[in-house]
Amino acid sequence: MKNNEVVCYKCGTKMEHWAEVEHNGAISRKHYYYKCPRCGYRLGDLTIKIERREDRGIVLSLEEYIVVKRR
Ligand SMILES: [Zn+2]
Repeated sequence: MKNNEVVCYKCGTKMEHWAEVEHNGAISRKHYYYKCPRCGYRLGDLTIKIERREDRGIVLSLEEYIVVKRR
């Protein structure tokens, strides 16, 4: 997956892709981000909102999308 490599802006290390889920009642948010294993620099990628509704099941929406420069 060399095309998807993201390099840390601070120290030039190849960053790792992470995902984290945040629960808040019926709404969950999944945050995707890049993290530098060397200096800890974090770069947001995208956030998906997952909403559970009684009538329509699950509603997914893209809340945030940050274009990350890839090389
Ligand atoms: Zn770094």
